[in-house]
Amino acid sequence: MIQRRNTRQVMIGHVAVGGGLYGTTASPVVVQSMTNTDTADAEATIRQVYELWQAGSEVVRITVNSAEAAAQVATIRKGLDALGCSVPLVGDFHFNGHKLLQAYPDCAEALAKYRINPGNVGKGSKRDEQFGAMIEAAIHYKKAVRIGVNWGSLDQAKMAQMMDDNGKLAEPLSADALMREALIQSALESAQQAIDLGLSPDQIIISCKVSNVQDLIQVYSDLGQRCEYPLHLGLTEAGMGSKGIVASTAALSILLQSGIGDTIRVSLTPEPNESRTKEVVVAQEILQTMGIRSFTPLVTACPGCGRTTSTYFQELAMQIQSWLRQQMPIWRGQYPGVETLNVAVMGCVVNGPGESKLANIGISLPGTGETPVAPVFVDGEKTVTLKGDHIAQDFQLLVDEYVRT
Ligand code: SF4
Repeated sequence: MIQRRNTRQVMIGHVAVGGGLYGTTASPVVVQSMTNTDTADAEATIRQVYELWQAGSEVVRITVNSAEAAAQVATIRKGLDALGCSVPLVGDFHFNGHKLLQAYPDCAEALAKYRINPGNVGKGSKRDEQFGAMIEAAIHYKKAVRIGVNWGSLDQAKMAQMMDDNGKLAEPLSADALMREALIQSALESAQQAIDLGLSPDQIIISCKVSNVQDLIQVYSDLGQRCEYPLHLGLTEAGMGSKGIVASTAALSILLQSGIGDTIRVSLTPEPNESRTKEVVVAQEILQTMGIRSFTPLVTACPGCGRTTSTYFQELAMQIQSWLRQQMPIWRGQYPGVETLNVAVMGCVVNGPGESKLANIGISLPGTGETPVAPVFVDGEKTVTLKGDHIAQDFQLLVDEYVRT
């Protein structure tokens, strides 16, 4: 069993993150994502936020990088509300966030959380002033803040000072250890600075993102012991395709298993024209396959082998999985517990009947060269044998009936 790390609880709009300390109860690990539309294009951003929310993203971050973008944030919020989409929006601010939050009060109000990167707030004496202006906005509008440190944009003045100090130590830290320590110190010192300015510790979430799996695990393991803030987990710049998925899964799974992580994002580089929703699906599947949360019925499918020389079996498994995902907006809320349903789609009689019997509902195809008939098992009992050209549709009807009854 996973023992979650107890934290303060922070509200991002209506979504609770973390908990377990000071009379709060730990809330489920929250799935987040981020748009890649130009926020100044309100219509495109509304469309993508809505898609991400439909896919299951519980918080969506949008970049607020210019006056044109800030000017559209309230419109985006209203547009989403009109569609019945209440997903909290997070504004991602770098370099000019202090100006935008002051110049666009409707933007400051429409966002549920401000992401502040201490390394991209400003330099020298301007740094404190500009950071302070953003914190003042969070206090005034009662918004959560994520102090989000990234290795790629670490405060260079801080790093230089730490390297200097490290060189004077009898046993200096290695370059990697120094980098990890600098990330953690940057996050924790910025959080303390925000508290000194009047922000409640119950408004602060921390992240320290790096792109290397082992560094991420070490940074968060350490960070988890050094503060009470909820932690946002993510392997930054995880990469494309299977590399991004594997690296994110490896890093996040180890930390989640240790009870670390109150909200997660899987940062994947999408293929051109690939849907942004993939990162939401992967984040959900990490949590669901680890038994931490359930989002949608998952299909148990065998890999197929020489017994399944046609592609029919793979097509059926994919069709059923995507159909189940499509059903969730209809089923969710109407059929409590439907997300834990286990559906099996198996390739032949070797393991098919056994796995199908273990599922809530399963189908076992005949394999190669045999008559295309497929027995269906419901709660461990064979109930019917499907035949002909419409096995997929007939099986979907049976799953639908199972859910409804
Ligand atoms: Fe091959 Fe049958 Fe096993 Fe699937 S269940 S991998 S088709 S032997």
